[in-house]
Amino acid sequence: MSIQEKILEKRLGGGRLSLEDGLLLYSCDLLALGQAAQAVTPHLLPEIVTFVVDRNISYTNVCTIGCDFCAFHCQPKAKDAYLLTKEEILDKVKELVDLGGTQVLIQGGVRSDLTLDYYLDMVRAIHEKFPKIHIHSFSAVEMDMLAKKSGLPLSELFQQFKKAGLNSLPGGGAEILAERVRKLISPKKISSDRWLEVMRTAHEAGLKTTATMVFGHVETLEERVMHLIRLRELQDETNGFRAFIPWSFVPFKPGSRSSVETRGNEAEYWALQGVMPSSGDDYLRTVAISRLMLDNFEHIQSGWLTEGLRLGQIALAFGCDDMGGTLFEDKVLEPTGIEVHTRRDDLIRLIKSAGLTPAQRDTNYHVLNIFES
Ligand code: SF4
Repeated sequence: MSIQEKILEKRLGGGRLSLEDGLLLYSCDLLALGQAAQAVTPHLLPEIVTFVVDRNISYTNVCTIGCDFCAFHCQPKAKDAYLLTKEEILDKVKELVDLGGTQVLIQGGVRSDLTLDYYLDMVRAIHEKFPKIHIHSFSAVEMDMLAKKSGLPLSELFQQFKKAGLNSLPGGGAEILAERVRKLISPKKISSDRWLEVMRTAHEAGLKTTATMVFGHVETLEERVMHLIRLRELQDETNGFRAFIPWSFVPFKPGSRSSVETRGNEAEYWALQGVMPSSGDDYLRTVAISRLMLDNFEHIQSGWLTEGLRLGQIALAFGCDDMGGTLFEDKVLEPTGIEVHTRRDDLIRLIKSAGLTPAQRDTNYHVLNIFES
C-alpha cells in the first residue's frame, strides 16, 4: 500500500489528517482522491445536490485596499466609480424576490467615507420590505473597516447588524491565510489573524459565516493546506462555518482595467504578473483535499463561477455537495472577462445531467424543493 493510500485509509477510518498528509495527497492519484472525498461527503439526502437562489449585489466598486488580484475595484475619482442608492438596492432585491429567491449577498469595496448608518439603513430597509429574504452580507474586510471607523468592538457591531436584520456573513477576504502571501497580493488587507478574529466574533455573536480560499497564484501547497488547518481549528472552536468555498485565481483578461491603472503603483502589480490559471486537475485535487482535511465542515460548494459550469459539475464527484447560488450578474468577475447569468433552471439541468437530484435550499441548508426527474 502506498503512503497516499494509507493516508486515505486513515481518513476513511475517521482519523484527522495532518499538514504532511495533506501535502502528500497532492501527489495522489486524482481518481482515488475523488473517490475518498466522495466517501466522506455528507449529503442532506442521498444523491441530492443543493443550490440556493440568490443574488450578488456589489453596492460600490470604490475601494482603497487595492488587492493585486482584484480587477473590480477603482479609485474614488475613477470615471466608472459608483455607489448604489438604497432604492437601487431594494429594486435588485425585488427582482430576486419575484424570481423566488431567498438570499441576497451584498458586498463591495472598502471605503471609509461611508458611515455605519449607510450599512445599517440598507440592511434595515431590506429586512423591513422583504422580511423573508436572508441577508448574507459584508465580508470580514468591510466589518473590520466599520469597527475601526465607528470605534465599536466587533461584538457590539455585530449586535447592531443583527438588530437591523443581518442574518449571516460571507467568507470573502480570506484569500490564503498566510502573511507571506497577503504581503504580496493584498498588502493593505486585514491580516489572516484579524480575518479569523472577525469570523470568531461573528460566530460568537450568533452569525454563521462561510469560509473561502482563493488559490493558484503565489502561494505554496503548504500555505494552502495550512489555510485549511486554520479554518478547521476555528470550526472546532465555534462550529460557525456553514460551508467552504474554494476557487482559483482568475487572471485579468488582456486589456481589462489592471490594478496598475486603479492603484497607480506599477511596482505592486508584479506579484501576479505571468501567473497562469490553475488547471482542472489542480482545482479538483484541491476540492478533494479540502473535503478530506475539513472533517468538521458539512458543506463544500462547487466553484463553477470561476471554474466554469462543466468543471463545476465534475467537482460534484470530488467532494462538493452544493452548487452555491444562481447568479444574475457578477460585477466583481465581469472585469476579468467572466460574464455570468446562471438561473435556477441552468443549475437544475446541470445537476440532473450529472445523474444527481437537484434541490433548492435556503441559506441554512433546509431543503425547499426537490426537482425529481
Ligand atoms: S478584493 Fe475587495 S478589498 Fe481587495 S481591492 Fe477588491 S474590493 Fe477591495
